[in-house]
Amino acid sequence: MTTTPSKPMPRPELRALTAPFWEAAKRHELVCQRCKQCAGWIFYPREQCPACFSRDLEYAPVSGKGRVFAYTIVYQPAHAAFEPEAPYAYAIVQLDEGVRMPTNIVECALEEIRVDMPVTVEFDDVSPEWTLVKFRPDGG
Ligand SMILES: [Zn+2]
Repeated sequence: MTTTPSKPMPRPELRALTAPFWEAAKRHELVCQRCKQCAGWIFYPREQCPACFSRDLEYAPVSGKGRVFAYTIVYQPAHAAFEPEAPYAYAIVQLDEGVRMPTNIVECALEEIRVDMPVTVEFDDVSPEWTLVKFRPDGG
């Protein structure tokens, strides 16, 4: 049974710190912050490198490849706007660059999702303003 959401779908908040990530997603490119001092990859976006505390950070392209680090199947979303999409897979994907990203696993039967499963980025244009970063099984 399909229900009409009683609340609008929540969307990310655009801030100067995170804008490059969302603008790249809109172009269907995945970028993460990288520290110019220690070369470490950083996600979520921060003002300061968590490894060496440098504030000299830049956004740079990443492979878009990774593996499922953890996942759960959501049957009862905490927010009413997600109810029509349930059940769905909420996951943490560890990119090949090492950072871990909260996301959804798509284009895959929910019962086929496994920890350590190779995945590749998929861009979901949910509105003219927003593209969400999701992952699907890596076809290789
Ligand atoms: Zn650093």
